[in-house]
Amino acid sequence: MALSRFQNRLTMNDGNTIPVLGLGTYAPKDVAQRESEMAIKVAIEVGFRHIDGAFLYENEKEVGRGIRAKIADGTVTREDIFYTGKLWSTHHRPELVRTSLEETLKSLQLDYLDLYIIHWPVSLKPSKDKLPMDENHKILFESVDLRSTWEAMEKCKDAGLVKSIGVSNFNRKQLEMILNKPGLKYKPVCNQVECHPYLTQKKLLEFCKSNDIILVAYSALGSHREPMWLDEKSPVLLDDPILGDIAKKHNRTPAQVALRYQIQRGVVVLAKSFNEKRIKENFQVFDFQLTPEDMKAIDGLNKNFRYLTLSQFKDCASYPFNDEY
Ligand code: NDP
Repeated sequence: MALSRFQNRLTMNDGNTIPVLGLGTYAPKDVAQRESEMAIKVAIEVGFRHIDGAFLYENEKEVGRGIRAKIADGTVTREDIFYTGKLWSTHHRPELVRTSLEETLKSLQLDYLDLYIIHWPVSLKPSKDKLPMDENHKILFESVDLRSTWEAMEKCKDAGLVKSIGVSNFNRKQLEMILNKPGLKYKPVCNQVECHPYLTQKKLLEFCKSNDIILVAYSALGSHREPMWLDEKSPVLLDDPILGDIAKKHNRTPAQVALRYQIQRGVVVLAKSFNEKRIKENFQVFDFQLTPEDMKAIDGLNKNFRYLTLSQFKDCASYPFNDEY
């Protein structure tokens, strides 16, 4: 995981580089479809080069339009942009992987993705619905050997549809299952997981680093807090007094401190905002440094608190969050 000659990028285990700061694009469907294109354009203008999307978010068309507009007006080239897409759980069967990626490419109107990741280790019955259910509203899981899904991902890389492949929300055992797969052609370049001062993921990060896998942090600002996904009583990360004190000391905001914290510990970090002022603010994290004492104080905020438990998936054998990490 070496620092690249390109500024603010890390080199992944397949030799490709990833910008250490990315823009998240999840929002409730109506907001996502109304605001994504504008947010992408603003983000690229202020300097973001890494954009994190997903089939699940239902805004790939709008995100693609934003990216292509900034390529068309000469602000960036396609090669400047690092775009991540995600394979949704209804498409884990190996024969569905490439079709799903092609659908994403078509929505984005791009020729390739920089990174394609398995969104969740939980597999769902193939369906047009994102969350297929039976008549009693029970989620329809199915058992898919994720090693065969991974082999289909490897083929997408070989076909040039995607430059790098990785996973998301995998626990240690699930990562080991891929790493120890007989005939493994490509290791996952990353594991994208929830990570912030209340869930520092110390052990998972150590495991990933020791296997040359980059940890990508989502909900690094304390999550989108959508009531549909999480408990409204969950603590508000950016109101934390210790983060507030550190921010004041550096003349920064708690959000900038939370992002800078991840970058300094070798984690690639995502920040979602569809607000022009906050998008700009979130990119201003390369011109200050947290001290070792600041880093230690933030480490000390860990309480293994997860905003996104996806408890709907708890009944599935491959639900990742029953293990310690
Ligand atoms: P974040 O932790 O990035 O926080 C987003 C929230 O913080 C939004 O409500 C945003 O509102 C607000 N915010 C952004 N910047 C600031 C700021 N400077 N000061 C104060 N508030 C701010 O949320 P997410 O949970 O969305 O995670 C980020 C991204 O990670 C997602 O968008 C998605 O791309 C990815 N993700 C991946 C998952 C996976 O399973 N792999 C799961 C969850 C997320 P506003 O827009 O109004 O600024």
